Amino acid sequence: MKWKQYKKVIFFHLILNIVFALFITCSSYYNTPLKGGKDVVAYLIHLCIIQSTFAGVLYILSLSKIVFKLLFSLLFLVLGGISFWIYSIDISVSTALIHAILTTKSYIVRDLISVEFILFLFLLAVVLFLVFKFYNKIEKRKGFQFFLPLSIGLICLFFVADKLRLKSFSTKLPYSLFYSTIAYMGEEDIPLKKIEKSSSLFLENDITVVFILGESVRADHLSLNGYKRNTTPKLAKRKNIVSFKNVFTNKTNTALSLPRILTNQSISGVSQDSIISLFDMVNSRNIHTSWIGNQLLESSYKTIVNTNNEVQIIDELRSFWSFHKKEDLCLIPELKKQINKQNNGLFSLHMIGSHWWYEDRYTDEFREFIPVVDSKYIPSLTKEQMINSYDNTILYLDNFLDSIISFLDSRNTPTVMVYISDHGEAMGEDGKWLHSHYKSLTNPAMLVWYSDEFRNRYEEKINSMIERSGESITTDIMYHSILDLFNIEDHESEKSIFFCEN
Ligand SMILES: [Zn+2]
Repeated sequence: MKWKQYKKVIFFHLILNIVFALFITCSSYYNTPLKGGKDVVAYLIHLCIIQSTFAGVLYILSLSKIVFKLLFSLLFLVLGGISFWIYSIDISVSTALIHAILTTKSYIVRDLISVEFILFLFLLAVVLFLVFKFYNKIEKRKGFQFFLPLSIGLICLFFVADKLRLKSFSTKLPYSLFYSTIAYMGEEDIPLKKIEKSSSLFLENDITVVFILGESVRADHLSLNGYKRNTTPKLAKRKNIVSFKNVFTNKTNTALSLPRILTNQSISGVSQDSIISLFDMVNSRNIHTSWIGNQLLESSYKTIVNTNNEVQIIDELRSFWSFHKKEDLCLIPELKKQINKQNNGLFSLHMIGSHWWYEDRYTDEFREFIPVVDSKYIPSLTKEQMINSYDNTILYLDNFLDSIISFLDSRNTPTVMVYISDHGEAMGEDGKWLHSHYKSLTNPAMLVWYSDEFRNRYEEKINSMIERSGESITTDIMYHSILDLFNIEDHESEKSIFFCEN
């Protein structure tokens, strides 16, 4: 084959892909913390695989002049616009972003439109003009009998690679935009059973419950539970705090675990005819519910969360994959505002907690255990670095919960704070890290704090909770326990940790 005659076509596609990679694909890697040669090479290979597979898509588009000019312009400008925000503030391409774009929320537009952004769009338009100028000079179909099968092969490579690498390709630009759009279009509401509002007045509606959903915190890394390191120094000094060491869940990722904690559904997977939202039940007694989250809502529990009277998502354009995500302490001023406004009710906080990448989950003052992780590339990190960083996130949690307790304690009202992590985290057992895949994650941390005022009024409830704290329980108890705190009965009330027979 005489490659010379195809030289111009090959050269065009080479330039096209370099331009596309620089303006779009590289943005997904730009904020990733990497330490040295080995890490950079690993991520460079990853980038080259993504761009090569998309080269197949670009080649097929280029075969028709009208299709190329229309679709490539659209892709380049939309993806380029998004990549600007990824490069500059590391937003996440997620269903929440698609929702924000489609509903053009004014405060988002105000936050994101800047002189730099307009200049970047102008630069994209100039580059687009130059690409088309070059395109007009090539014989676009020359050699397509070779290049077309090659392109189809490259596109197939994407699906194989993405499956092998646990979707690590489809979560990066350009693919992440398509996948998020499809996920957004396919989102369905969970069929929740309707709960009628009660018309009677309840005299004991002055209770405050702060319900905190943690993330990836395993019980055995809390010194309260006997961990060798002092990871919970502030909580250890508190009175009225009870730790549940033996909580079990078989749902080891957020999307599977939360729907069970927030409804009457069991982790044993026996599907019930009617799924009841915890918040609907509480609302039915005319008690206020609000949700303040530092995590984006996933479709498996979005409908449930939306049954709260108020839902507020902090940092709503960044998922846990962003390296600029806000730390959890930013939830506390919002919680205080809500409690001061409502006085009592159910206030749920959803933390980003100890989700990987650990270094983004705490501030410098909690960097007590060193050396910490300094690269996103796990194979180049030591076990010691991983555990140190993880334990620093627990120190941050200790301070976070202690700050909330200080605030609640100062109010002198009947109040309970319940903390439960959605699941644990693997810490190198059998070479496994992070979560979603191993036995060591089935024991999440759980804590209860109560005010003296609550104990004085409900001494029996507190006594039975303390009695049960050593038992082996599952996360199924949570739905019934929160209802029990508000004296709301359901047909499985005995599952509540506060349950006492009268
Ligand atoms: Zn989780």
